[in-house]
Order: sequence, then C-alpha cells, then structure tokens
Amino acid sequence: MSRWRKAQQLAASEGIDTLLITPGADLRYLTGYTALPLERLTCLVLPARGEPTLVVPALERAAAVASGVDIEIASWKEADDPFALVASLVGDVAMVGLDDHMWATRVFSLRDALPTAQQVLAGPLVQQLRIRKDDDEVAALRDAGLAIDRVHRRMGEWLRPGRTEREVGADIARAIIDEGHVTVDFVIVGSGPNGASPHHEVSDRVIEPGDPVVVDIGGTTALGYCSDSTRNYLAGGTVPSDYLDAYAVLEAAQQAQRDHARPGVTAESVDAVGRAIIDEAGFGELFIHRTGHGIGQETHEDPYIVKGNDLVLEEGMAFSIEPGIYTEGRFGARIEDIVVCTADGLEVLNNTPRGLVEL
Ligand code: ZN
Ligand code: ZN
Ligand code: ZN
Repeated sequence: MSRWRKAQQLAASEGIDTLLITPGADLRYLTGYTALPLERLTCLVLPARGEPTLVVPALERAAAVASGVDIEIASWKEADDPFALVASLVGDVAMVGLDDHMWATRVFSLRDALPTAQQVLAGPLVQQLRIRKDDDEVAALRDAGLAIDRVHRRMGEWLRPGRTEREVGADIARAIIDEGHVTVDFVIVGSGPNGASPHHEVSDRVIEPGDPVVVDIGGTTALGYCSDSTRNYLAGGTVPSDYLDAYAVLEAAQQAQRDHARPGVTAESVDAVGRAIIDEAGFGELFIHRTGHGIGQETHEDPYIVKGNDLVLEEGMAFSIEPGIYTEGRFGARIEDIVVCTADGLEVLNNTPRGLVEL
C-alpha cells in the first residue's frame, strides 16, 4: 500500500477529514515529490476517504509530473486564488490536519478559506509512519552510513596541526559529496576548547598538537536519506590525562547504550543506561544533551532518545546514539553512531573505530 494510502487510514481513524501537506519532508515522504518551498502554493490535499489531489502552480506542473507522483495534479494559474482551489477540493469538513512546517501565512489563508474547519497538526500522524523504516529505507540509511564512514576513514588526509578548522571542514565537505552524498548537511570540526560546544561548526582556530578534535558530519544521499556520525581525533601531541579518563567513560557509556537498545525497550531507557555510567564516574553534569534523535529523510526526527520519552522501540526505528562529555574552555568528546532496530536486536550503521583516533 502506498504511503499516502496508509496516511489516509490513519487520518480516518483519528477523525481528521483532510490532510494538507506543503513542501517539505512529509510531502516528499508521502508522494516522492521534492517540491521547492516557493511563495506560490503547492499543497497535497489528502482526504481521509476518496482520492487525493496535488495542487501546484501551473509553472511547477511539469516538475511535479516528472517526479512520478501517482496522484491527480490540479494546477493554478498566476491570477487564480490557490486557497480557493484547495477549499473547493476539501469541501465542507470539520477538521483539517496541517503540515507541521507550513508557513504561518498559509495557515491563516487556509483558515480564511475554510472558516469552519478546525485546524490540527498533521505531523504527529505522518510521524507514526515515518518512524518505522521499511526495508528499502533501512537499506538507504545503511548506504548513507557507509558513505559517511568512508569520509571518517579519510580524516588523516586533511586533519593536521597548523590548519584551521575551516580549512579542514572545507575538505571534509568535498569528501562528503565525493563519497556518495548529494548535499552536505553539516560539518562540525571542534578542536580543543571548541569541542566543548556540541553544535560548534567550524572557526578560524588553528588546530594544535595535543588538541582533541570532535568531528561530527552528515549529508543526504541521492535516495534522500541522511547520514550523521561523530568521531574524535588527535593530530600529533598528547591529550590531557583527564581527557582520556573522560573518554574511557564515554566509550563505556556508548557501548552500554548500543548493547541495551533493541525492540521492546523504551527510548528513555537507552538514554538512562548511558547517563548512569557517566553520572557514576562523576561527569553527569557535563553530559548536557539527550542521547539521540531519529533519522531518515531528515537528520532530526522521531524518535528522540531522551528522558521522558516512554515510546517503546520497534523494528525499523532508526536513531542516533551520541552521548558526549563537555568540559567548557578545555575540550569535549562525543561518539555517535546511527543504529536501527531489527526484529530482535540492533544493527549499527556506523562502524569506524570509536576510540580516540590518532592520525
Ligand atoms: Zn546535534
Ligand atoms: Zn546526531
Ligand atoms: Zn551528529
């Protein structure tokens, strides 16, 4: 059954009459159409029952057809009111589910065009589908994992003392494309004290011998699936001994989390087993973020591996396991793998060495 038909069934069961999905990851997931987020309205009108329509500007019609969508396309001309067109397709309904990432201007235009329909979010419904990857999606994530692992294996070509994080990052970005991605989504090269900021990107800081360097990188492959992996490097010199103490604890915590994660355990329990080890060693205050995030056509999506998320993991759920320890002003370390729940265990999609890599 197509994804949009499954979404229809869910909408029917939740009492949402029509889903209205604008360009973004949910539209791509449901239809395969990667629409540009333009000022002209593109919107999938997906009723709980009956046939859907993809509303597109006339000048985007060819692109929509070329994407191979198996949905009737209705196009509107420059002087037409696309919201009136959507309203005519929706009809007289009680509840519409709007794309989570719909522009606020459109939310208000749809409120005016459909004044009696209650607006709710469509995202939680679509996430119920996106959160369980099918075999093709797992294969695509596996490929993405292999591609980013190839980049990590080449780190010695670029990461050297005397070069700036920015120079190293530019080389990494080229390699992310060369090794099998179509976009570079992020490049974090956090040397020395910059490693203590989890979302530091790059700077003009010159890498010195003895700096631990956090490298967290990811891209999107041609199939539309994302990679994301973090490793830690040393380019000459020796790291402080308290760094090595913290690193050993981090490795043990991340390993324990990979050993624990499987169908049937909760998302928050994966966070808890790693956090307990880091707490026990006295570094608890320095593990300042959740353990991980789901990944698929977006780098960050459900399920979030965080305290308070009692979601029970199931086969096909893919997410990161990425505990970190951050000592402000000195250094940081994070080990990150993407994993996917199999029928009875866990497949780890990143498999380069997890210890501190001396280049
Ligand atoms: Zn992050
Ligand atoms: Zn991540
Ligand atoms: Zn990452």
